[in-house]
Amino acid sequence: MAIVTPGETTADGRRTLRLASPATLEPIGEIECATEADVTAAVRAAREAQPAWSALSFDERARYMDRARKVLIERQEEVIETVLAESGKARAEAINMDIFAGCDSLCYYAKNAERFLRPQHKRPHGMMRFLKKVTVFYQPLGVVGVITPWNGPFILTLNAGVQALMAGNTVVAKPSEVTPFGGAKVRDLFDAAGLPDGVFNLVEGDGETGAALVEAGVDKIHFTGSVRTGRKIAEACGRRLIPCTLELGGKDPTIVTSDVDIPTAAAGTVAASFMNTGQFCCGSERVYVMSDIAEEFTDEVVRLVAAMRQADHGEFDVGAIFWDKQLEIIEDHLNDAVSKGAKVLTGGGRNPDLKGLYIEPTVITDVDHSMKIMTEETFGPIIPIVPVESEEEAIRLANDTTYGLSSTVWCNDEARGVEIARRIQAGSTCVNDMAVTYGIPEAPFGGRKDSGIGQANGEVGVRGFCHPQPVIVDRFKGKQTAQTYPYSSKNDKLTQRIIKILWGTPIGRWLS
Ligand code: NAD
Repeated sequence: MAIVTPGETTADGRRTLRLASPATLEPIGEIECATEADVTAAVRAAREAQPAWSALSFDERARYMDRARKVLIERQEEVIETVLAESGKARAEAINMDIFAGCDSLCYYAKNAERFLRPQHKRPHGMMRFLKKVTVFYQPLGVVGVITPWNGPFILTLNAGVQALMAGNTVVAKPSEVTPFGGAKVRDLFDAAGLPDGVFNLVEGDGETGAALVEAGVDKIHFTGSVRTGRKIAEACGRRLIPCTLELGGKDPTIVTSDVDIPTAAAGTVAASFMNTGQFCCGSERVYVMSDIAEEFTDEVVRLVAAMRQADHGEFDVGAIFWDKQLEIIEDHLNDAVSKGAKVLTGGGRNPDLKGLYIEPTVITDVDHSMKIMTEETFGPIIPIVPVESEEEAIRLANDTTYGLSSTVWCNDEARGVEIARRIQAGSTCVNDMAVTYGIPEAPFGGRKDSGIGQANGEVGVRGFCHPQPVIVDRFKGKQTAQTYPYSSKNDKLTQRIIKILWGTPIGRWLS
């Protein structure tokens, strides 16, 4: 990211944005915002390229993804350095979230998209089974707009792009203006993999450019970002009658039961809360722990968090806040909590030793749901811990939110952990693990309530970039349909008799 400030307007009228590193506050570059005309041209290029791209076999499309994977492995340092420069996050996070997950995505969808999208023969029920053959064909939608946020500019653009492409669509991507260089690396990757012109296009810019993309005649928007923007996208897509998938924010709860191994649950909770400096859509943002172990658990969390290293270079665990606007939100939530009685056990504010955008890894207690830190998305390196008297109370508080993205349960008894998980109103839940759903394509990823509409990844995700078109073939070459007219009372009586037999008798219902 970075700190984004408006720059000069170019001679041909494009707005520019200047970016500074969140770690060093030094300038790291500038982007020109694509205009409406640029976006229209990108969509046109994608539209022209789409028929030839979708006419390729799955194997042919997979070969491009395989080449992109090889390029990603070869050029991983370049991607890592770009992501680190604009985010100030820990190197391990760029390696895991961007390179590891990127290679996995390219490989997985190259191998599996054909299986997800092969035509499906369906046997109609009842009498129709004797008359009709049904096959569902997964047709690409056409041109897909992929709009992504700043907290995962490379992987979120790549992963959605790969799925849309393997399904036979072409793509116009619009990464966040806060982290534009990581997003642009996806275009570089596909260019280096030799993708035909117009198949994967990228437009740089801010919300104006994103809004222009929604209006530019695409066939679907795959949006990842905030609830506020998600609502605008949904409205615009509704007006245009195009589908959208909305992967939005969260306020994910963690429940810790009495029987856990405390060091493991504490370490897992810390990992879930601090990954990507807490700027992880399904990172844990509030912890409900059974009161009989609350003190020991909290002490362990504090011990671990206090030992975390924060720095702007070299080896460290907790990096910068990627965006100055997010820093303001985090500070606001902390101040609000403290003013209402929250107790800071470690951390608690800006890191005075670093000049960049750094919030110290923080643990707070004495928090409740009157505070923003327990109800609004904070997106920062903070763990608020609440002792609870029962699992019922934990579940009630976990569900006391407008969000529903992900959630975590730490419970030694696996079956009970799953039972608790099933009662949490969230898109997904991890038991004895942290926020892994996005990395497991077999687990459809998406939010409930304000956290989104639709699901991404795996079979569901790839099919989401298609229209399932049933083709129905009459086994008797239309002979029966050809006898539709003239209507006659004799035929009406016959139909009514059939209705009585089929749904008015046990044997009929069994047959139908
Ligand atoms: P944001 O909504 O501000 O911006 C997201 C993208 O939308 C950016 O590219 C932005 O330029 C663009 N945009 C802004 N206004 C637009 C408009 N009117 N029309 C079209 N595009 C527009 O979100 P952000 O601050 O970049 O990202 C952080 C949010 O993303 C957090 O809430 C986080 O939880 C969420 N997120 C969700 C997931 C998920 O999978 N559910 C994953 C990552 C991040």
